[in-house]
Amino acid sequence: AAARTVTVLGATGSIGDSTMDLLRGARDRYEVEALTANSNVEALARLAIEFGARFAAIADPARLGELKDALAGTGIECGAGESAIIEAAARPADWVMAAVSGAAGLKPALAAVDRGAAVALANKECLVCAGDFFMQRAAKAGACILPADSEHNALFQALSSGNREELVRVIITASGGPFRTWAPADIEQATLEQALKHPNWSMGQKITIDSASMMNKGLEVIEASYLFALSADEIDVLVHPQSIIHGMVEFSDRSVVAQLGAPDMRIPIAHCLGWPDRIVGPSARLDLAKIGQLTFEAPDFERFPGLRLAYEALRTGRGATTVFNAANEVAVAAFIAGKIKFGSIAHLVEATMNDWIRAGNLAPLSSADDAISVDYNARNRAASLLPQIAL
Ligand code: NDP
Ligand code: MG
Repeated sequence: AAARTVTVLGATGSIGDSTMDLLRGARDRYEVEALTANSNVEALARLAIEFGARFAAIADPARLGELKDALAGTGIECGAGESAIIEAAARPADWVMAAVSGAAGLKPALAAVDRGAAVALANKECLVCAGDFFMQRAAKAGACILPADSEHNALFQALSSGNREELVRVIITASGGPFRTWAPADIEQATLEQALKHPNWSMGQKITIDSASMMNKGLEVIEASYLFALSADEIDVLVHPQSIIHGMVEFSDRSVVAQLGAPDMRIPIAHCLGWPDRIVGPSARLDLAKIGQLTFEAPDFERFPGLRLAYEALRTGRGATTVFNAANEVAVAAFIAGKIKFGSIAHLVEATMNDWIRAGNLAPLSSADDAISVDYNARNRAASLLPQIAL
């Protein structure tokens, strides 16, 4: 069979790294069209050369000279700035991994969607930010959205066991993060170092902090709602500290179908890469006898108010999930910068959402520009509320 062409947006990140690792193991089946990064020129150039990419794009415009120098004599084309990232996504690859972090990933992901590519979607913020509009664009262009997020990938696999009308609810699991058993007052004061110690998964910084606050699970509830057209009542969260079961689907006959796997992002990414076939994944196999026990708990909405706020945003609709995501991005950046306490992340998100609703700003999003402008305004709103929340 002819090699499939692939593009990786966010190739230098944690998901990018797992994706490149899988591609490295199947060099004869895949050809790399384009790779992108934000500022890490060195890693981007190294990957572009290793994989013989046709195009490399760096988001930071100031790094174009460095990238050109690093690729001199290789024949690899390159570009810089947001437009170059969008160009990378628009180039003709059969399959695109959307793994930029944050709402910055929205426009590039849409560029891949609009040309009807198979899009492996890791970037959950872009779904949370642009809501059902994103899925409408995909349907219109005939783009296949393959969920790369482990829980959603699990649901995608389990959903094929029944029809939509037979579905009762979906369940996404959560490890509970490093603060699962901490007293609320201690969580409030948690340090950056403590928040970055995830018990099971190794991930980028933003999502690791979101996992500690369980904002990540909130984003995932919203993500599941848009991906699979489910209401808030049809999505449950179950704390499962071992992170072996990633998602389950309950059908009308009370069968519950689950997907299991070690907590290794290469497994859901391999599913997206191979789909509709299966490729060879990582070498380590799941050894349940060794793991011994799988345990479950109900999520604690008081310890983790971010989860409650996500459900509220989803039920509110009309741009509220965009505001939820934007405020959380501002709050996480402020926490990393030492400007607010860990517990204040949820306070800032709640204050921004309430302020937004009180100002009468809710309105349906009908375009990417709508989503981007709500995102922009909500970030400003969150930034202006920051001093009241600050240390
Ligand atoms: P990382 O921070 O590790 O990587 C982000 C990637 O995006 C890097 O290549 C980075 O470039 C690039 N990037 C960052 N900002 C911009 C920008 N403004 N414009 C263009 N490129 C940019 O993140 P992760 O890999 O952890 O996560 C990526 C996405 O996948 C997120 O949306 C996350 O929620 C989601 N996800 C991640 C999981 C994981 O296990 N890591 C699991 C499930 C979902 P550079 O290296 O130059 O900074
Ligand atoms: Mg996940």
